[in-house]
Amino acid sequence: MTDKLILDGARVADAIKEQLKTRVEALGAAGIVPCLATILVGDDPASETYVRMKGNACRRLGIESKRIHLDRSISTEDLIAVITQLNRDPLVHGILLQHPVPHQIDERAAFEAISIQKDVDGVTALGFAQNAFGYADYPSCTPAAIMAILDYYQIPIEGKHAVVVGRSPILGKPVSLMLLNRNATVTTCHSKTQNLADMLKLADIVVAAVGKPSFIQGEWIREGAVVLDAGYNPGNVGDVDYEACLARASAITPVPAGVGPVTIATLLKHTVDAAEKLAPM
Ligand code: NAP
Repeated sequence: MTDKLILDGARVADAIKEQLKTRVEALGAAGIVPCLATILVGDDPASETYVRMKGNACRRLGIESKRIHLDRSISTEDLIAVITQLNRDPLVHGILLQHPVPHQIDERAAFEAISIQKDVDGVTALGFAQNAFGYADYPSCTPAAIMAILDYYQIPIEGKHAVVVGRSPILGKPVSLMLLNRNATVTTCHSKTQNLADMLKLADIVVAAVGKPSFIQGEWIREGAVVLDAGYNPGNVGDVDYEACLARASAITPVPAGVGPVTIATLLKHTVDAAEKLAPM
């Protein structure tokens, strides 16, 4: 067990936040307070928790958190009107629309309404495309967090076989592209993939982004693989069977304190980046 590396997300997040402190102070000296607007539609308890955690993290670093809580019955048009107002507000530097939104809303249309300059979670088609080309200012935060963890621990990516389980537009797809851009050989799996276990047995790097508690089994993991668990299910349970995968892996992210805190730190970083770009000193 001693050779196992637990990829400590809190440590990576602290390193990111430490670098932000002086940048937030410099902005403050110029009269600029970085501001992240978070939009929550409805009363989903998990989403409320995520938004609260993001707001608290902002405040601890001196970033303003502007929280907009909208009724669950709001129309797509009215939601877009709120986003348009935030786009025009010079005091707002980043906009985050918490996913998922209620069914009557056209989530894609709402995401697309976010100005690219304020799209700090890479949810617009343009942000996604820029990430695919490898030059996004703000790639989606969870995929960027996964890459940040690999880089912090100096885990080689080039030439490795990465297997990503999940292909959502905010997680599985963008992280697959980021790994590909770093010269990994990437296999992206999804609910229609056949022989998932056989795919995973070939992986040097496993990214779990499935949304199913403890889904990835220990016997699917190749001896010595690196396992990144983006999953965050009720009860603080990830998408991998942690103990079983730990037994095979050389390195693994825990849940909690793995990908989650780095995702939040990345969101803070993107907000500070946006404040510097939108309000040059
Ligand atoms: P999602 O939109 O529900 O996507 C889940 C993906 O998993 C889909 O592509 C789906 O395939 C695939 N999948 C479902 N069942 C499968 C199966 N049996 N075999 C293989 N693939 C399967 O979820 P998401 O938004 O990407 O989130 C994934 C996980 O990450 C969740 O646990 C979520 O809570 C977590 N998350 C964490 C953070 C963080 O900061 N740590 C941020 C965002 C999300 P199809 O495309 O074929 O349906």
